[in-house]
Amino acid sequence: MTASAAALEPPLALLAELTHRCPLQCPYCSNPRALVTRAAELDIATWQRVLTEAAKLGVLQVHFSGGEPTARRDLLDLVRHAAGLGLYTNLITSGVQLDRARLAALADAGLDHIQLSFQDVDDAPGDAIAAYDGAQAKKRAVAALVVAQGLPLTANLVVHRRNLGRLAAMIDMAAGLGAARIEVAHAQYYGWALANRAALLPTRAQLEDADRVVDAARATLKGKVVIDYVTPDYYARRPKACMSGWGRRFINITPEGKALPCHAAETIPGIAFPFVTRESLSTIWQSSAAFARFRGTAWMPEPCRSCDQREVDWGGCRCQALALTGDATRTDPVCTLAPDHTLIEAALADPAREELTFRRFERV
Ligand code: SF4
Ligand code: SF4
Repeated sequence: MTASAAALEPPLALLAELTHRCPLQCPYCSNPRALVTRAAELDIATWQRVLTEAAKLGVLQVHFSGGEPTARRDLLDLVRHAAGLGLYTNLITSGVQLDRARLAALADAGLDHIQLSFQDVDDAPGDAIAAYDGAQAKKRAVAALVVAQGLPLTANLVVHRRNLGRLAAMIDMAAGLGAARIEVAHAQYYGWALANRAALLPTRAQLEDADRVVDAARATLKGKVVIDYVTPDYYARRPKACMSGWGRRFINITPEGKALPCHAAETIPGIAFPFVTRESLSTIWQSSAAFARFRGTAWMPEPCRSCDQREVDWGGCRCQALALTGDATRTDPVCTLAPDHTLIEAALADPAREELTFRRFERV
């Protein structure tokens, strides 16, 4: 099937990257290496118009993200606007800028859910990888406030070579803090994480341990806490269905208003991604060349074109294909059927590195 404009379904969710400002400096951050400055951020009127257009287009969920979305002083008004449109609102946050009063105001404005990230279970390595003293303690305190406020809490546990040995304790901590859902997410190797891959990529033995830890935790916490598990696709036989397929379910809006099919897409050269300041969201979704570029299966090369998995994984991730092969139209090298799969094998054989490049504006 090729997703034609006529058959096109509305997007399920809009990821609103309100800002790239963030007090933390995680070296696996999913933001691009070229961060958008505060001066270039969309104003509130534009964001409110975009949210209104999203609701009209059929979007059901809006995820307020960043950077750190609480760095925007107008976050409350944006949440209120989105909730007033009937959108399900989720705040994806590091939590370090939240307190009881702000959480109460967000809940009052109609916020439906909070996704709070944790870098570790122990304070020293957690604070070190975020390059923020006191981050871990602050996050635990904020988790308690979220639960006390009655907001559903998802704990997002980002894992990699340096903290996987403490995964069981991280899950215990998150469950103890009252998270209804825990997402164990291996770092995904784009942008900052790709730059730090040799320092973060787990070994196969670590991955197998992590699989066992997650299985055991799922059994122990069954009926109380849901655990989602995002595995590192470098060890998979087939790629993930990135964003459930290009331009099929998600729209990502950058802080400066660029509309993307996924957060790393602007690394792909030769595609003019549309701006919400110049075109409506429905025009962007239904008619833009950028969203049509890798939608469906017509663009696919072999071996994807004749593969029975092509509408399951949609050929994998275009940004990963670009990052590893230099060509976004190639089959994702993660796939063992891909002509470029040796690149993954080479990365797995790379010697481990200790030093990290932290996410900072001045490193761009
Ligand atoms: S991953 Fe870390 S640095 Fe990036 S936005 Fe989230 S908290 Fe900030
Ligand atoms: S060949 Fe393409 S469609 Fe088939 S499994 Fe690999 S990436 Fe997916």
